[in-house]
Amino acid sequence: MPSEAVAQLSIDLDALAHNYRVLASEAAGAAVAPVVKADGYGLGAVAIGRRLWAEGARSFFVARLAEGEALREGLGPERPAAIHVFDGLTTGSGPRLVAAGLTPVLSSLPQVSAATAFARQLGRPLTAGLHVDTGMNRQGVTPDEARALAQSIDRLRGLDLGLVISHLGAGTDPADPHNGRQLERFAAVRALFPEARASLAASAGIFLGPDYRFDLVRPGVSLYGGGPQERPDPRLKAVARLTAPILDIRTVRPGERLGYGAKVVLERTTRVAMVGAGYADGMIRAAGGGGYAWFAGARRALLFVNMDLLAIDLGDAEAQAGEMVELLGDNVHLDDLAAAAGTVAHEVLVRLGRRGERTYVGEI
Ligand SMILES: *Cc1c(COP(=O)(O)O)cnc(C)c1O
Repeated sequence: MPSEAVAQLSIDLDALAHNYRVLASEAAGAAVAPVVKADGYGLGAVAIGRRLWAEGARSFFVARLAEGEALREGLGPERPAAIHVFDGLTTGSGPRLVAAGLTPVLSSLPQVSAATAFARQLGRPLTAGLHVDTGMNRQGVTPDEARALAQSIDRLRGLDLGLVISHLGAGTDPADPHNGRQLERFAAVRALFPEARASLAASAGIFLGPDYRFDLVRPGVSLYGGGPQERPDPRLKAVARLTAPILDIRTVRPGERLGYGAKVVLERTTRVAMVGAGYADGMIRAAGGGGYAWFAGARRALLFVNMDLLAIDLGDAEAQAGEMVELLGDNVHLDDLAAAAGTVAHEVLVRLGRRGERTYVGEI
């Protein structure tokens, strides 16, 4: 049992499973391959991987080799999932990828040649994916390079290319014509590799319509409750819930200053609760002044966020030291907090849980 005296991060695996089922139903037949990079967006890749395996997920994505190794170990031999590594085949990573049974997603021509050389050395085919850049200019070979690879058997010799992926740069905005252009390029590229499964959509792309789903979708943030269009989506449930105790309550008179600097000057007499969480607990400092917390059945303005303390405007609510305030969860939407902090839900999530207590709700 967690004590009630410190900030607590609770991770609801039943809500995670609910979101997985929502995404699977939206993906209508495409396989759902959860993205659990950065330790499952900070929420625990192994717990998430085990639970989603139980829900039917058989492929996962991580960014780094070490994340893949940790996930393989955590899943154990009884859950032989395919684990894809976005970083691909980096210098010297071949033997470790093979030892942990990880699939590199190759993302440049030098990586492709390194992979064929490594397969030769192994004396057996190397399972790999190929990342093609269709217009984000971040990661992947160009469509022309993909075509050249597809047309020369030698350049892919020894590779068992099971997956071709690309990533959308503007999927959160369905009206952006860039999505259609990337879709068109990707459709041409995947036709070059008829044996491989094709994957274009992350969370946002799943909701752009059936054309975007192909064989496999790669949701991250929406599994964890982030709306595909960067605003709360009522179909998804909050997975991360952060609560923290009220440490003290003070009354601040009009014209008085609050906290560091002269940034917050109150216009009326305000009852302010000092809450025991701050940016060291993952609350982003920039959310002070724009965000809200939830206490006694209502939203309460977030006045400032310091390292260990944050302040909320209690309004006329009765409150006592020791009572818990919700800073993120069912009533404080992840996307609202991200917007108040000028960032995306992904960043809010990965910052959580560095301090305080962490518990899981629901079966792992
Ligand atoms: C992080 C990532 C995803 C998941 O994105 P979300 O927006 O969290 O759904 C999918 N594909 C690639 C290539 C990524 O880097």
